[in-house]
Amino acid sequence: MGPKFVEKEIIEESYAAIERLRERLCGAHPYYFIETYGCQMNEHDSEKLAGMLEAIGYRRTDDRTKADFILFNTCCIREHAEKRTFGNVGFIKEIKAQNPALITAVCGCMMQQKEVAKRLAARFPFVDMIFGTNELHIFPQLLEKVMDGGRIFEIKDIEGEIAEGLPIKRSEGFSTFVNIMYGCNNFCSYCIVPYVRGRERSRRAEDIIDEVRCVVREGFTEVTLLGQNVNSYNDNGMRFPELLRRVNEVEGLKRLRFMTSHPKDLSHELVMAMAECDKVCEHIHLPVQSGSNRILKLMNRRYTREHYLELVRDLRENVKGVEITTDIIVGFPTETEEDLEDTLSLVLEVGFSAAYSFAYSVREGTKAAAMDGQIPEEVKKERLARLNAVIMSSVNGANDKYIGREGEILIEGRDLRGEPMMFGKLGSLKMVYVNGDESMIGKYYKVRITGTRFNSLVGEIIE
Ligand code: SF4
Repeated sequence: MGPKFVEKEIIEESYAAIERLRERLCGAHPYYFIETYGCQMNEHDSEKLAGMLEAIGYRRTDDRTKADFILFNTCCIREHAEKRTFGNVGFIKEIKAQNPALITAVCGCMMQQKEVAKRLAARFPFVDMIFGTNELHIFPQLLEKVMDGGRIFEIKDIEGEIAEGLPIKRSEGFSTFVNIMYGCNNFCSYCIVPYVRGRERSRRAEDIIDEVRCVVREGFTEVTLLGQNVNSYNDNGMRFPELLRRVNEVEGLKRLRFMTSHPKDLSHELVMAMAECDKVCEHIHLPVQSGSNRILKLMNRRYTREHYLELVRDLRENVKGVEITTDIIVGFPTETEEDLEDTLSLVLEVGFSAAYSFAYSVREGTKAAAMDGQIPEEVKKERLARLNAVIMSSVNGANDKYIGREGEILIEGRDLRGEPMMFGKLGSLKMVYVNGDESMIGKYYKVRITGTRFNSLVGEIIE
């Protein structure tokens, strides 16, 4: 059975609510402020909420004390997330005291954990709206109820549906995200995502391609296709490699990226699609999590170290200049010195261009949280420091190979921390610093790499 789509009538009702709210504002343009925690999925959800707010007539502000509507889009992946979120929401009390008309809202993954949402509602009675990840498309209707004097607590347990056709206010720039699927079926034993984002559901290929065409018309030249596990994308038999080839055909698009790839589902067909599609960048984020087969099994990752290394070989043989980035967890329950050594040796063997390292932290409700053999905090800290040292030496050493090479960068902005230089990324995601000025932002330049700078590169423009 395919995914469920939100009925057209409900989306039409959302647009009608936007119109009613717009009329209610009588030409006024109040300010909204959104604070987003967590991954690109959440960032993208915030873009959708901003799109609806702007369609109503709200204007964005980065100053929360000036705002008439404040929204926290929460995440529950990181340690102490609840404490941090509750702390930040608590600060709003004073702003609300100064401006009783202020509307405050909390949504996102953390609110999908009903017990946490109830605690938040009880502790902060001044929060007007609490809603989960499955209610984004009815946000205008919920806001209308609040404006009528109600308080909203709306968190559905049912499997999420796919809502198409809502307005989006994309972050400024030349690079943007397009969701291709939602949810995850993998239940890695440490991860809360399948519990808060629901089961996998893929968008229709034609809706994705239409959205890519639309963002290209808006002026974006780089698109990242998003999903918790893009490799299991399936629209009535159309799999991810085929989708990638079709999106690659979109006229005007210059660069195509995707994330995240689960190693157990990375196929040779995808490697060949990467190799053969001219717009697909030579970069893949392939989270390995551990180099120990015993720990990978406990993590329920369903691949081995050997299989991962085989994928790396396939990628390097076929995708010219490919760079691989990864995520690694140390201090998983029962991890021994030997397991850690396996992870460190894998880092050296692969030569990642970047690795995001984490000390394992308990997520209530996951299998790993109930495992025996939890590792003491100071041991986790010490192991993380050892891992980071190995990553740093491996990444910095690998940067030298770029010196003398040529490539193309998309200039993103000016670095003001050190020397005033412009920066942009190669297709491989390596950051390159060059001399120049703001007029270069958003344009592509051919560069020759002349040196390295921490974990990035320095180059000169040749075209
Ligand atoms: S693949 Fe594993 S780590 Fe990634 S979202 Fe799904 S359960 Fe979490």
